[in-house]
Amino acid sequence: MKKYDLIIVGGGMVGASLAVSLKDSGLSIAIIEAFSWKSDQQPSFDDRSIALSYGSKKILEGMSLWSSLKDRCQPINTIHISDRGRFGVTRLHHEEEKVEALGYVIENRVMGEVLQHEIQSLDHLTMYMPATVIGVEESKDQVTLTIDQDGQKIELEASLLVAADGAMSKVRDMVDITHHKSDYAQSAVIANITTEKYHDAIAYERFTDSGPLAFLPMTEKRVSVVWTINREDQDAVMQLDDDAFLEKLQQRFGYRLGRLEKTGVRNVYPLALTESEQLVKDRVVVIGNAAHGLHPVSGQGFNLALRDVAQLAENIQQHGVQNPVCWLNGYAVSRQQDMKRVFRFTDSLVKLFSNNFMPLAHARAAGLMMVDCLPSLRHLLAKQSMGLFGKMSRLMRGVALK
Ligand SMILES: Cc1cc2nc3c(=O)[nH]c(=O)nc-3n(C[C@H](O)[C@H](O)[C@H](O)COP(=O)(O)OP(=O)(O)OC[C@H]3O[C@@H](n4cnc5c(N)ncnc54)[C@H](O)[C@@H]3O)c2cc1C
Repeated sequence: MKKYDLIIVGGGMVGASLAVSLKDSGLSIAIIEAFSWKSDQQPSFDDRSIALSYGSKKILEGMSLWSSLKDRCQPINTIHISDRGRFGVTRLHHEEEKVEALGYVIENRVMGEVLQHEIQSLDHLTMYMPATVIGVEESKDQVTLTIDQDGQKIELEASLLVAADGAMSKVRDMVDITHHKSDYAQSAVIANITTEKYHDAIAYERFTDSGPLAFLPMTEKRVSVVWTINREDQDAVMQLDDDAFLEKLQQRFGYRLGRLEKTGVRNVYPLALTESEQLVKDRVVVIGNAAHGLHPVSGQGFNLALRDVAQLAENIQQHGVQNPVCWLNGYAVSRQQDMKRVFRFTDSLVKLFSNNFMPLAHARAAGLMMVDCLPSLRHLLAKQSMGLFGKMSRLMRGVALK
């Protein structure tokens, strides 16, 4: 039986971030990851790009990761929010918020490379990869895991177990934490597109009758597109050839960036809201998509998860893992408010803006114009987009955990 202080199941964006945030903790850590990081099937470090909020940048600074990421990110200086076919528009500017950028766009694969490079240099960390968890048993003093690696069963023991194994978390089910899932009946099609005109560091969030359409600025003359469509249209859109796809997308987005010239690989993600009923149970914590799977509108999921990571790492560093039952409930309470706010924010945006009911559509347009005219409302919206709500943990203030 191999013993660790902490076992993290899931070495994706969130599990890997947690391990790196604990690099100076002196704890022995094991990560169990189902897919090799080099595999094309690795579901976390895939073809997507992620909009990191200003708050996430502060956390990554505290984790000493920002210096490796900053030259590979595209800053977002302006966020342009509009309702397709109506007049309402609002714009958020970084100068107005007095920050160097409202956020940053990074490719998941690049984020993965940086996290993996960091993890490989940690001598107190053991990777089991590819390996999956097939059993979890809890006792008063520890958690015992059975994993399957290359057809071999291995038993591991830890004082604290973190489930970061995604929205379909097996660990969450194995320890009997209930979750709720509500299907949006929408899918997100993602692709990197080369545009005729430079994006000028502007992120576009355009609400359409089938759901939000985001154009996120990337390095060079590229944008990362997240196009929400009704689930029933998914196959038809995925089967279009590249020219027909670009033409359809151009119709939806218009010509603000000139012609859409070239598309990269397309991928599709069915969208649902999943929420774990508990964030902690005995010696188990659930984080990232395993705790909350969100609609990608306004890019909140990973940013929220990174705030979970920041708070959890601080509590682990402060209290240790031998007796986590003393502090885990406090951790859960401290994260609840932020999570509920982000849930309400993303869910109501999707429901309000994917609706063609005429009076609502007019009210929406008026609402966007009002936000554009009122600096205090714009500031509130910018604060949400920058991830500056919730209790400010040390890492959120950019302070290292030492
Ligand atoms: C289209 C789209 C766009 C998005 N854009 C943004 C954005 O701009 N900004 C933002 O903040 N968020 C965004 N998100 C959300 C973001 O992608 C997620 O929040 C993030 O990927 C969650 O990471 P995770 O590590 O919790 O889960 P996952 O990415 O699902 O990773 C889970 C990991 O666990 C492993 N695993 C699963 N089961 C097991 C098992 N039984 N044993 C061992 N390992 C296992 C998997 O292989 C994987 O590596 C977007 C999401 C989508 C779908």
